[in-house]
Amino acid sequence: MRIRVILFVLVATVAAGCGPISESSLPDLSDRETIRVVTTVGMIADAAERIGGPRVEVEGLMGPGVDPHLYKASEGDVRRLERADVILYGGLHLEAKMADILERIGERRLTSAVTDGIPRGDLIVAGGDQYDPHVWFDVALWTGAVRKVRDTLAAADPAHAPGYRARAALYLAELDALDAEARSKSEAVPRAARVIVTAHDAFGYFGRAYGYEVIGLQGISTVSEAGAKDVRRLADLIASRRIPAIFVESSVAPRTIEAVQEAVRSRGFDVAIGGSLYADAMGSEGTPDGTYVGMVRHNVDTITRALGGPG
Ligand SMILES: [Zn+2]
Repeated sequence: MRIRVILFVLVATVAAGCGPISESSLPDLSDRETIRVVTTVGMIADAAERIGGPRVEVEGLMGPGVDPHLYKASEGDVRRLERADVILYGGLHLEAKMADILERIGERRLTSAVTDGIPRGDLIVAGGDQYDPHVWFDVALWTGAVRKVRDTLAAADPAHAPGYRARAALYLAELDALDAEARSKSEAVPRAARVIVTAHDAFGYFGRAYGYEVIGLQGISTVSEAGAKDVRRLADLIASRRIPAIFVESSVAPRTIEAVQEAVRSRGFDVAIGGSLYADAMGSEGTPDGTYVGMVRHNVDTITRALGGPG
């Protein structure tokens, strides 16, 4: 008798499925008035809004200036995640401090890492078995993540899949044009000046896609502080190669890059601060920079102007 009870519990547990909810076992949301989507970074929220249109209510947890590498979910965030129908996040350890909560809630909610839409062979290896998570700055590569958003919403809400596909097609066409724009503006920058010096290695994909050498002062995450030795080494390099401008980032304190500028001056060369780049967060909501397309365009224009392109 006792064995039977244990067996029953075992079978019931297996049948209920204790792994994360996958697209093959998800609840059909077609009858809902709207789908509640919660995302981490703004770039994903933007894609979900554009593709979801009137079918979705999107909440992005990380607003302007927020560093996703350090972000911890608040109690309010946990409540939002628990109420969500669909949770979309970056993955590749971008949201390093949210891994546990995403995994826990992912057992009960449809949760999708949008970078799963990008072939692993196209990713930049960032040391060890880790990939560089800053995929959104190669616009063509990011379209893989956008397709993942489209496919996740269409699978969760199949009755409205044609709408998701139609809106995604428009958005993807816009991204193709943006990719071409970034490429042609970058090609107008003198070859020797195509160097991006900035505080953390957020621009590896941008550099690879649009032809820049990228030199970051910090590692792949903002968790580690740059040492004085790194500042000296970078100042030597900027002064000797006469790199015209270095950049600050919206989600990183500017003091590090200002220290580099000072050190370059003490070597008899004046390097400009070429402006502020968006790295891991978009600009304010309601402004052009508060969209993915506007954010990328801001960076392309800031970089190409400061480095001697037509801008
Ligand atoms: Zn970053």
